[in-house]
Amino acid sequence: MAILSGAGVSTDSGIPDYRGPNGLWQRDPDAEKLVTYDYYMRDPDIRRRSWLMRGEHPAWRARPNAAHLAVTALAEAGVAVRVITQNVDGLHQLAGLPDRKVLELHGNARAVVCTACEDRTTTEAALDRIAAGEDDPACLRCGGILKTATVMFGQALDPEVLGQAMTIAQACTVFIAVGTSLQVQPAASLAGIAAEHGARLIIVNAEPTPYDALADEVIREPIGTALPALLATLT
Ligand SMILES: [Zn+2]
Repeated sequence: MAILSGAGVSTDSGIPDYRGPNGLWQRDPDAEKLVTYDYYMRDPDIRRRSWLMRGEHPAWRARPNAAHLAVTALAEAGVAVRVITQNVDGLHQLAGLPDRKVLELHGNARAVVCTACEDRTTTEAALDRIAAGEDDPACLRCGGILKTATVMFGQALDPEVLGQAMTIAQACTVFIAVGTSLQVQPAASLAGIAAEHGARLIIVNAEPTPYDALADEVIREPIGTALPALLATLT
């Protein structure tokens, strides 16, 4: 079984959908620059504000919710499940799902990578340095620019991660798209690939999606109750 999880899975954990009606981008158009690769690499002031945004972001204190826990329970019950997520909050892993079962299409905001030497450290360590007075902490190994291990606007998805996601979509017998509007490509196309290859496609989302007509089942109930109920029927 494959589960594609989007922003709607984390809203019950207090993480707003930044593209939604009350999202970050709508309130502060300039905020998009803070997560756009070219601006970030070019401008130390954008990096300073981007780190402040990370530290203040609700994802930093968020805890997994009933939907994350239900996915973990499914795996622990012995169901072969892989999660492909558009979220960068790491909440599937915090809910106890092993790293190897989670493919993060857009990376993980809890890790930091050096843009020069690719050394990986934690966001917590970077935020500690900022709390201690650094504006724009540089790589401690090579002095390069640090950024969170997320895919920013203007960056391509990791081809290896995307390739694995496509393989999973082709091979699974059930594909559940949950909390995603299925409007951002190439993630959305995974639902179509799964359906073309014979998987049962189930969509759990508050709003209609472009893939609803392809789906075997569309569920519009709140995710926090609908996903646990759906997964219980599949075990
Ligand atoms: Zn470095």
